[in-house]
Amino acid sequence: MTLVAFLFGLLIGSFLNVCIHRWPIDKSVVRPRSHCPKCERQLAWYDNIPLISYGLLRGRCRHCGETISWRYPTVEVLNGFLFFAAVSQYGLEPISFKCMLFGSMMLALIFTDLEQFLLPDELTLGGMAIGLALSPVLHIMPGATQLIWLIAGTQPEPWLASVTESVCGAVFFGGMLWATREIYYRFRGVDGLGFGDVKLAAMMGAFWGVNYTLIILVVGSIVGAVFGTTLVLLGGKKWSHEMPYGSYLGAAAILVTFWGDDLIGWYWTAVTSAAATP
Ligand SMILES: [Zn+2]
Repeated sequence: MTLVAFLFGLLIGSFLNVCIHRWPIDKSVVRPRSHCPKCERQLAWYDNIPLISYGLLRGRCRHCGETISWRYPTVEVLNGFLFFAAVSQYGLEPISFKCMLFGSMMLALIFTDLEQFLLPDELTLGGMAIGLALSPVLHIMPGATQLIWLIAGTQPEPWLASVTESVCGAVFFGGMLWATREIYYRFRGVDGLGFGDVKLAAMMGAFWGVNYTLIILVVGSIVGAVFGTTLVLLGGKKWSHEMPYGSYLGAAAILVTFWGDDLIGWYWTAVTSAAATP
């Protein structure tokens, strides 16, 4: 079953590549059919098989010899791996489908941000709508919003608690990044965060609620700090260089939603064993 999930992930990954290429330039992802961006010849089905075609063609267009970006096989494999991970962790449950959907959208966002410094609305706003729509059906674990119900003195139905968590997550994190963006702009006079990052945070909030999104933002800052410092130390980049913050957030979101419980477990083991050592 996990192998089927992996293969299915490869296929969806192949479609993600089309989205990554076309959404930032506002083109349809359905039509026209896949073609070489240089010679514009349409790809035959046998030149469009995930991974295999790239290997057989040795990364070049059959007709004009133009190099095909390494991003194509990379996204396919990563997405296959995410689907594999979701099914091996959760089985064929609704939650694993939610993880696959979210993981695929994050992958697409990571790569549009890396390549074009863009986070397409189709993914951020579309993702937010999907997160909100899923919340009454697939319940989000109640987090910080329990406080609202405690103050109100009522115990809501589980679906209502979940919707509240989703809405509050979107509003809170969208608002938080928006405020950060405004403050940064007032002090530095330049945009530190794109508006796409604000929408991305709102989308994550809608998908996972307040508590998980908070962990994602913390992990995202760590990932960003580590990568940013490495890039500066390795040379070439300056501190002021535009950072693909959305990519860091996306990577953190995948880590937390797929392996969050493991991460928290390791963290506590490390903290408690450090505290136990005299
Ligand atoms: Zn070509």
